[in-house]
Amino acid sequence: MAKAEVFPWLAECRVHLCELHRTQRLPHALIVHGAQGIGKANFATAFAHYLLCQSPQGDQPCGSCKACELNNVDGHPDLYLLEPDDIGKPIKVDQIRQLTDFICSTAQQGGYRVVIINPADAMNVAAANALLKMLEEPGKDTVLMLITDRLGQVMPTIKSRCQRVECPLPSEQVATDFVAQALSLDADEAQRLLRINNGAPMATLNYSESDQAEWRSQLVKGLADVLKQRRTVVEVAQAWQKADLELMLGWLYSMLVDISRAKATENEALKQEDAHNMLVAVSRKTNPAKVFELASLVQEERKSLILRQNTNKQMLLERILLAWSAIVR
Ligand SMILES: [Zn+2]
Repeated sequence: MAKAEVFPWLAECRVHLCELHRTQRLPHALIVHGAQGIGKANFATAFAHYLLCQSPQGDQPCGSCKACELNNVDGHPDLYLLEPDDIGKPIKVDQIRQLTDFICSTAQQGGYRVVIINPADAMNVAAANALLKMLEEPGKDTVLMLITDRLGQVMPTIKSRCQRVECPLPSEQVATDFVAQALSLDADEAQRLLRINNGAPMATLNYSESDQAEWRSQLVKGLADVLKQRRTVVEVAQAWQKADLELMLGWLYSMLVDISRAKATENEALKQEDAHNMLVAVSRKTNPAKVFELASLVQEERKSLILRQNTNKQMLLERILLAWSAIVR
């Protein structure tokens, strides 16, 4: 379970939901949507704790009632977290069936039952259909929170039964201050890291605390090598076998967005500073249609990654890298 925390940029979302709750207008199903890495899961956990608390203080759980004590040790029987069994894999229909048992039982502490599904876009079709039935006839005092950064991947029939909670990105200033403080960095370095991570603070913390920076430099180097024909597409694809493909493709997509922006605005001050020279060179040699086509391919491959059981990484990367080398020809 993500740590319960409402970051400052999501405070207004909390005010909104607590207001709905106080006036008894809280819907039984919410989609918590916003960019990746901004603290949506922390937010959902915090709101669940608030709903379960027996004597909330304003918009906060009291922290000391029985429910809060159970939540503090991740042990509240009426809070259910549904995630894929393995990271990056689909949520399966069997998991939704287990959830049905939970929903159909009586709340053990006599209050709400809260379900967090994260990420909601990871449900395969069978799982989504099973969930749909549940959304049509929710139990009393049940709240489902579906978390996603890919709303387009959530079935429209599910979306139409949920009220949407739009989680904003913080402003660049707020995000920079937050990251600089959390990682003890100066503002310039914090800003550089944030730009690699699309301005998302939690994604940035995760980036700096993992091996992602190493993969990022492998990505930049591999893309440059392919363009300059220092390594073949096959060699670079082999070198990336152990990478988190979702992450790599996400970065590549941001680079393509950067190139498009540079071409559209004739402004070569790109956000992706670590790949700046390469991206400027590409933007001078390519045309918008080619960049758009590659960006679409990258998005398609990202979508299919999560729903595919066994991805042939080598083939996928070769397809992407071949298309990458073709955008300057
Ligand atoms: Zn409490």
